[in-house]
Amino acid sequence: MANVYAKKRYKIKYKNLALLLAIFLLLILLISRGCSAIFQKKDKDPLQTLSSDDMNSDQSEASTIQMTTDPTLQTSYTFDSVKKTAADLGEGDLVLVNNKIKYLGEVTDEGLDVVREKKNSAYAVKDYTVLVRPEVMDALNRMMLDFYNATGKDGVMVNAGYRTLEYQQELYDADLKSTGSDTSTLVAMPGYSEHHTGLAIDFTVVENGKYDQSKINQGDYLWIYENSYKYGFVNRYPEGKQSLTMIDNEPWHFRYVGVAHATAMHNLDYCLEEYIEYLKNFTVSTGFLSIKTDDGSTYITYFTPQSKEETTDIYLPKKSPSPQSKELYPYEISGNNIDGWIVTFLYEQGAGSVSPAAPEENEAPVDGNGEGEVTSAPEDDGGEPA
Ligand SMILES: [Zn+2]
Repeated sequence: MANVYAKKRYKIKYKNLALLLAIFLLLILLISRGCSAIFQKKDKDPLQTLSSDDMNSDQSEASTIQMTTDPTLQTSYTFDSVKKTAADLGEGDLVLVNNKIKYLGEVTDEGLDVVREKKNSAYAVKDYTVLVRPEVMDALNRMMLDFYNATGKDGVMVNAGYRTLEYQQELYDADLKSTGSDTSTLVAMPGYSEHHTGLAIDFTVVENGKYDQSKINQGDYLWIYENSYKYGFVNRYPEGKQSLTMIDNEPWHFRYVGVAHATAMHNLDYCLEEYIEYLKNFTVSTGFLSIKTDDGSTYITYFTPQSKEETTDIYLPKKSPSPQSKELYPYEISGNNIDGWIVTFLYEQGAGSVSPAAPEENEAPVDGNGEGEVTSAPEDDGGEPA
């Protein structure tokens, strides 16, 4: 009897072992399938920072590839990828350029809009030499139209946009000459100015034939200061951030970074130096940053550090977790002009994202003639700093 029992127990143990082994093998299969769905990569070149530990190796396939309602849970996405090289670091709306960080991008006149030709009648522009990137042109037109509709003021003039290296050198030399100093706290060194990017503009205010840059954050014009983030602009050299920006407070200098990032910078009260550093906390392996804009849209953003290899894989989330699906969220990739790229994608379009109405005919402000309206000479040369 004892012998029979022992034999039976042994048999049961053996059976259990086989069952456990089968379950184990099944689990391995499920996990590996789950991971390949996440990585979407067959070659042996996965992102350095993206290990299976970071992602979801301890979860079942279902939980790894299902979309969740929390857009910051990056583990629920499947990705496609594109490659970037060091030459792309200076491309995009989030480049950080300052007195220590030289602009790596290249801008030519052909890629820029002539503000004088594209602007609406809600504001003026210095002359035909003021150029900006197309995305800046569009945002500027919408912002100035809304400003005019809100205040009835049409005295804002765009004084400066894109600058060449040569022109920045002239401004820099002139500032050193006037101050007698070795360095400038108002004009950036050639190659180190945001104005090289086509993403920066300087405003001035024209009232009674006189130019006054300092008025841009006073009275009715304060509207621009307070609302610019909704259009993608930030005041680039704010009061209190001089030690970080290395430029004196300049109320008139605005920089385009896109609506999502301008909103985040506004809410966090960060200057671009702080914000670019802050974004490094959000990666495919550590988690995404979700930004809700005033129009109700949700954007998601994260940083990808530059790889030690020649190319860096930038991961882009797909709309559907299905391996067959190729559709991506609308996205933008921008280099930070230092050491990596920032991906921003539109997770959900807000209900409030509608175009503003055009001003009524009979209320139309200046006829778009930036030059002819002002007869007297400017009080100063417009400054054109930084
Ligand atoms: Zn400027």
